[in-house]
Amino acid sequence: MANVSIFVPHNGCPNKCSFCDQRHITGCVSQPDSDDVKNTLEIALDSLKEKSKDSEIAFFGGSFTAIDREYMLTLLESTRKHIHKFKGIRISTRPDGIDDEVLQLLKSYNVTSIELGAQSMADSVLSANERGHSGDDVYKASELIKAQGFSLGLQMMTGLYKSTDKLDIYTAEEFIKIKPDTVRIYPTVVFKNTTLEALYKNGLYNPPGLESSAKLCSKLIPMFENAGIKIIRVGLHDSDSLKKNMVGGAFHPAFRELCEAHIYFNNIISALDSADIKGGIISIFVPKSDLSKAIGQKGINKKKLISLGFNPKFFEDDTLANRQVLITKG
Ligand code: SF4
Repeated sequence: MANVSIFVPHNGCPNKCSFCDQRHITGCVSQPDSDDVKNTLEIALDSLKEKSKDSEIAFFGGSFTAIDREYMLTLLESTRKHIHKFKGIRISTRPDGIDDEVLQLLKSYNVTSIELGAQSMADSVLSANERGHSGDDVYKASELIKAQGFSLGLQMMTGLYKSTDKLDIYTAEEFIKIKPDTVRIYPTVVFKNTTLEALYKNGLYNPPGLESSAKLCSKLIPMFENAGIKIIRVGLHDSDSLKKNMVGGAFHPAFRELCEAHIYFNNIISALDSADIKGGIISIFVPKSDLSKAIGQKGINKKKLISLGFNPKFFEDDTLANRQVLITKG
């Protein structure tokens, strides 16, 4: 069910995260006021009707509890009239924007889910990207959020300046130890007017491209799934502004599908190894809804298998479990 999203930019943010262009657009992006929130909710209720009970009001932008406190309360107050018609409120914020006092406030306004923009759990990466918080802040904030009964979401970025696949995998491992309810994985996209852009243009930073980011995320996705953590997003949402302002990094409108194809390719290779099949005609059986993921966009997995000496045919089998692959010769 789609959430009712309200973007709250952090105009005048004192931080200078390497990937963020918000401080450069201060004053250009208007902050929603009380009437904007009320109007948005009323329009949403009109179209959602009874289904609104399954939707959350989502204040996103990444710094909700770090914005001016009075302004934050005004936004929350604007939801009062209609909040009982929604599932609750979801906010996203910085790990160092959480303490017991703000959690109590959020609870009193029916906030039910809190997402933390952790980005990395490696202090070296956080510091190189001027996040202004440590990995320890993520552990502490997560503990407070969970202790007060909120649903916890953690967001990570892969391929940041000074990060490596190993450090991104470390971040996922630490997330798993924290046991959030949800995660989001965002491969880094370099935007105009950011520190990353300057580093990139000066040859000091080479952002991972689509292929290597999809390969890495194809390792991270099963890690979270096997730990029972729901992945609610992989890759940034497509938008005109993204396309206009992106100068490098990994973006694809269906990025998760690229990752799924990688996961299937790895599973197919493992199944071939286990069955000791070295080449020739093969029949690959996959779960019913997964045929396109297994074949891959533009038949990429099929092409890769052909280049390895196989002649693959793909079939659906609704007795197979999630991502299970069965291969027979001929
Ligand atoms: S990402 Fe960093 S710089 Fe950008 S608004 Fe959030 S805290 Fe401020």
